[in-house]
Amino acid sequence: MDSIVADRIRGVLFGQAIGDALGFGTEFLSRADVAKHYPLGLRSYAQITRFKPSEQWRPGDWTDDTDQMLCILDSLLSRGTLDVLDIAARMQYWLLTDGFGMGRTVYTVVRDPRFLTDPHAVAQAYWEASGQFAAANGAVMRTSVLGVWDYQNTDRMKHNAEQACRLTHADPRCIGSCIAVCLAIRELLLGAKDMAALTNSMLEKVKHYHPEMSDYFARTAEPSLEVFDLDEGMNSGKGNRIGYTLKALGCSFWALRHSASFEEGILAVIHEGGDADTNAAIAGSMLGARFGFSSIPSEWLTGLIYRGELESRAERLIAALDNPSPPDSGG
Ligand SMILES: [Mg+2]
Repeated sequence: MDSIVADRIRGVLFGQAIGDALGFGTEFLSRADVAKHYPLGLRSYAQITRFKPSEQWRPGDWTDDTDQMLCILDSLLSRGTLDVLDIAARMQYWLLTDGFGMGRTVYTVVRDPRFLTDPHAVAQAYWEASGQFAAANGAVMRTSVLGVWDYQNTDRMKHNAEQACRLTHADPRCIGSCIAVCLAIRELLLGAKDMAALTNSMLEKVKHYHPEMSDYFARTAEPSLEVFDLDEGMNSGKGNRIGYTLKALGCSFWALRHSASFEEGILAVIHEGGDADTNAAIAGSMLGARFGFSSIPSEWLTGLIYRGELESRAERLIAALDNPSPPDSGG
């Protein structure tokens, strides 16, 4: 594999993990409270003191967003192909043994007894019961790796993204979000240079999923991230919509369009507060694909507690893409 592509693939995984780990420091804060907590800005894991370090979390640890992405990655590496039930089993095991940071949709769907045998039906039923209203960011936060896997085959990639999304999230806005991020990562791996053109072409590919897609993509052209109101619900008098999938999608494409570096994009997103770990995980995966692993500030890499685990997986992923093997026989 071309060394530049390999660097971008490492960038996807580390970009996601770093955005997640750093964004955790401003999660659930309003923009105004972010400025109060971090008057000089949040730039390092060590500054995150909102939570006491515990067995479940220490500065430099990522959260549910990256843990669930790793459920997908580990399954791909084990099975050699997308295996929905294998991912479901890994997600349920993670939820029962860790589950740190998980959202309401994931908590409800993954704990359902039928999740291990028919997760798509469980997720569909949850969505129907919400009045087809629930469209949270809990799927798009984990599917970045599917923009790497099968990146030479867009039809399979789209199929994989939809299958992995519908494990927990049936709403077309969620599916469109996952597909847009995966297709964008593919284009970035292949060397896309014009971010406005890339963003516009992604809209063309996913706008049929929901009328609101066009609105959120249009906002990426605005000069400020404030148009996404990422901390909506963290200020009095507004409904809580911080976890809406199109907010996460929109702000990530905004970061891609407006940032001259990985660092600049991550910092812009996390200082908006709201669901900052998820927003920055998604933005980080795309920024990492664009600017590459080698562009990531070294202190953000060395501060990641589980850096070694991510490194070994990244190398196994790159090797697997170089030498695709048949799926496990299952013994
Ligand atoms: Mg999280």
